[in-house]
Amino acid sequence: MKTLFGAIADDFTGATDLAGLLARSGVAVSLRIGVPPEPPAQTAPLEIIALKCRTAPVDEAVGDSRAALAWLRRAGAERFFWKYCSTFDSTPAGNIGPVAEALMADLGVEQTIYCPAFPENGRAIFMGNLFVGELPLAESPMKDHPLTPMRDSNLLRLLQPQVTRPVGLANRLAVARGPDSLRARLAELAGDGIAHVVVDAVADEDLHVIAEACRDMPLMTGGSAVAMPLPEIWLEQGLLAADAAGPRRRQPAAGTVVLSGSCSAMTNLQVAAYRDRGAPAFRLDPLDLARDGVAGALEWLQRQDAESAPLIYATADPQSVSAAQQELGVAGAGEIVEAALADCAVAARDRGIRRFVVAGGETSGAVTRALGVTRLDVGVEIAPGVPWCHAESAGQEIAIALKSGNFGAESFFTDALETLDR
Ligand code: ADP
Repeated sequence: MKTLFGAIADDFTGATDLAGLLARSGVAVSLRIGVPPEPPAQTAPLEIIALKCRTAPVDEAVGDSRAALAWLRRAGAERFFWKYCSTFDSTPAGNIGPVAEALMADLGVEQTIYCPAFPENGRAIFMGNLFVGELPLAESPMKDHPLTPMRDSNLLRLLQPQVTRPVGLANRLAVARGPDSLRARLAELAGDGIAHVVVDAVADEDLHVIAEACRDMPLMTGGSAVAMPLPEIWLEQGLLAADAAGPRRRQPAAGTVVLSGSCSAMTNLQVAAYRDRGAPAFRLDPLDLARDGVAGALEWLQRQDAESAPLIYATADPQSVSAAQQELGVAGAGEIVEAALADCAVAARDRGIRRFVVAGGETSGAVTRALGVTRLDVGVEIAPGVPWCHAESAGQEIAIALKSGNFGAESFFTDALETLDR
């Protein structure tokens, strides 16, 4: 199928989030983990490449993004999207601005927009300031992020040091008057030489106006939500064919394993809720793993009925996590757990399990790597930003759901199982 749209995401669960929202349109979406080494063949109308460059050195992020752009252009894409986090995770050095400028240069475009708003998840932009729920970004928990502490809420001030050309604002008043008004504002800013335009959005209606106004822009940048209306607009425009829908609902052989390495507050609730329903569960303790290895978990897994969707989890409360981290180091504890869950995934596949539910962004990366998954076809959505995906592992068709920490409702694990069978 002809590819129209190519997106480059700065991390893995950010890519699945975007994939899930785009797939709501019914148009086929394909997600690649890293830039494929081989030239494009059999691409989907909407293609996403997941990079791991949110906190990489700037040169590496720019190089990877340009390689992704080149691959997507070879696939035939004509519209491009640079996807980053809805909390604008970056530092004065980058990587949001430098990647955007590099993509603009390669595409020969003079202007792009920046809209990380995601009203459904409480991210709004007003007068260029980003809010997380009711808090300005710099007063939200993001102020203490270990890698990208966000200490200013104003997107123009955050972006300017990251780029070489001028930054401007299309504010809510321009957006609220509709697509023509926004287009006029963008043209006015372009006339003043403004290359980088932050666009306000506080509600879903704003995102529709922005998508409509920018539907012909070669490059847009933002969170996942502003891209969501685009496929429907392109279907109406005739840029996407009505038969662009993919075979989205597939049901591989039954047998499920749930693997949870996220320690977020929501994942803790999800694990508790799943255990309360009587699901068989095995807890991985990083200290035990460091001492005794993963064999105990693998033996336990072999004994379980795969139809009962057993859970293996390292998910723990903050005190247990910091106790393990004190003993093993933050990276050390993380790596031991990720390796154990990856081993469990491979053992599960080798005994015939074909459905995988994975909780945690880093955990998802480790599990997909171990399973040798490099391409995912996006299927039905379980929760906002978390679709079932279909892939191949060791020549077998599998279904895999990859959930970043705070996504999904308390009933997420059962929701996932029910969604695939519905
Ligand atoms: P999230 O999406 O919630 O951030 P991630 O999988 O990205 O989840 O990150 C969680 C990290 O915590 C992983 O590196 C994982 O291996 C690690 N981890 C999981 N359980 C524990 C634990 N009990 N103690 C210490 N670290 C843990």
